[in-house]
Amino acid sequence: MYNRNRGHRGRFDSHSRGSKRKISQFRDISKFINPISDVRIEEKYIPTHTFSGLSIEESLKKNILAVGYKTLTPIQDQAIIPALENKDVVGIANTGTGKTAAFLIPLINKVIKDKNQNVIILAPTRELALQINQEFVKLGRGLGIFSVCTVGGMPIYRQICDLRRKHNFIIGTPGRVKDLIERKCIDLTRFCSIVLDESDRMLDMGFVQDMKMIMSSMPVNRQTLFLSATLSPEVQRIIKDFLKDPVQISVKSRDTSGNIDQNVVYIKNKQKIDVLHELLQNPELKKVLIFGTTKHGVERLSEALTSRGFKSDSIHGNKNHNQRQRALRSFKDDSVKILVATDVAARGLDIPDVSHVINYELPATYADYIHRIGRTGRGGKVGKALTLVE
Ligand code: ADP
Ligand code: MG
Repeated sequence: MYNRNRGHRGRFDSHSRGSKRKISQFRDISKFINPISDVRIEEKYIPTHTFSGLSIEESLKKNILAVGYKTLTPIQDQAIIPALENKDVVGIANTGTGKTAAFLIPLINKVIKDKNQNVIILAPTRELALQINQEFVKLGRGLGIFSVCTVGGMPIYRQICDLRRKHNFIIGTPGRVKDLIERKCIDLTRFCSIVLDESDRMLDMGFVQDMKMIMSSMPVNRQTLFLSATLSPEVQRIIKDFLKDPVQISVKSRDTSGNIDQNVVYIKNKQKIDVLHELLQNPELKKVLIFGTTKHGVERLSEALTSRGFKSDSIHGNKNHNQRQRALRSFKDDSVKILVATDVAARGLDIPDVSHVINYELPATYADYIHRIGRTGRGGKVGKALTLVE
């Protein structure tokens, strides 16, 4: 049984935005070993609802069908109905289980029915915000509803112009949204719905004050949807302060998806990079996401792999937004098969068909480990996670 308090305090360091991240490591090796034969013995979830049976607009149902979703994931099965009833919802679910559509479907429906409704969605990183926007575009196609993405690291004036155009959705990162509120470009009193996606990560990244400021500037009779992979004491405190009698849903049965085969590779009498080199020569490693700790380390590793003849790119905070997007694109479209990343840069990213996640350097916390390996084994596919241990 998943014990959410295990290790989350004491051993885990949270770090705040701007402060130098501590490089202490999580070293409970047993947690990195979880062969698929053990984890697969889990009964299949049978949803109670169907997309066609949901009381949502037909036009939205058509879009869901066009995206290719046939059955509801557990979080969608349990969160969509209360969200449609305008209730506050706290949804705890593993990564890769369709939380985005779980909040977008009811909120898009709300806006189709009443174009005076406005929704603000906060996510911890710009990549995540852009990803939510992509899903919004697919689910909202042809419905006459529009979004503006307000994320840091992109020109603010462009976003100010975008905000003057018709839109019902703002999807952004807390820092930039706060900035735009202070510049009077976003009037929060117009917004009666808010989503806090990956709230645990937003807290980790030091966005707690921004989140609180944004929520407290909104109308009191708003709807708040709160999605997170973990329910830490800080998350619980925010829920208590800002949500009204929320419907609490937890569909995580254990820490990680049952589709991830987890194992360790011990480094003995060898250079770590040589061990990685050998691993990468295995043709089974088709699309590999490698994690390092620091921006420089990640960049160096990617360069080293490239000079060893592997097609590799990197994603980390020292790259500008365009460079990050380019790296992500070439990994997504298979022009590079290896992407080396830091935790922050890779958090929550939905990249289809990552065959392997390799922890070249140990994660700082168990929560980071869970998020790292959650980049594989998505959409019902089997993935592998390998952790290099010295
Ligand atoms: P999470 O936010 O929980 O990490 P995402 O919302 O990013 O998960 O979804 C993970 C993947 O699952 C995405 O590629 C998404 O398109 C897909 N997905 C979401 N809902 C469904 C569904 N009902 N059926 C099939 N695939 C889905
Ligand atoms: Mg998500």
